[in-house]
Amino acid sequence: MSESPSEASGAQPDPNTPPPEAESAATRSADGVRAPEAPAPAAPVASPQSSAGRPCPVCGRDWGSGIYCQFCNAVDGLPRDVRLATVGRRFAGYLLEILLIIVTLFIGWAIWSLIVWSRGTTPGKQLLGMRCVYLATSVRAGWGRMALREFVGKFLIMSVISLFTFGIGPLILYFMLLWTKKRQELWDMVADTIVVHDPRNELASRSSAVPA
Ligand SMILES: [Zn+2]
Repeated sequence: MSESPSEASGAQPDPNTPPPEAESAATRSADGVRAPEAPAPAAPVASPQSSAGRPCPVCGRDWGSGIYCQFCNAVDGLPRDVRLATVGRRFAGYLLEILLIIVTLFIGWAIWSLIVWSRGTTPGKQLLGMRCVYLATSVRAGWGRMALREFVGKFLIMSVISLFTFGIGPLILYFMLLWTKKRQELWDMVADTIVVHDPRNELASRSSAVPA
């Protein structure tokens, strides 16, 4: 690799299409810290570089302008069968999470969480085949990133927001994925993650999306 790692990362900026500032900022900020091996562009879904006007390599329809296909939810740089999780699946995950907390008297759910965070998932997500992917590297989130997402982003920050909005803020913020570009929640932005549906566990290993 002769190029600098930040240049070779999955989401290439294109001179014609200015990428959303969040995307490029995330790629830049995180690259220097981690990922000595830059994410290979040879990822399964050949990235339609400047997405606009390009056909989706998976379904053939117009990809749209995001990091995922607007029709089939295939995600730039991830295996073909991995899709950005739909809004319905995300909300089903929240309901399942609540159910699991009740059924396991919280403690079971908490222990379960601490274990599966290392695989980039949570109890509810695990049962629905969902996983968190770290945007800067296109591999699944590790334990530390999940702790940042779940504990700092979802628990600590939301508790503070709740305090200052008399409990209303979090109710609204849970719907944030409806209007953000990558279906991200506030805690996804904190941890720089997206949530994908990975029915075949193709992202179970940290290196699966980036063949060495
Ligand atoms: Zn598609």
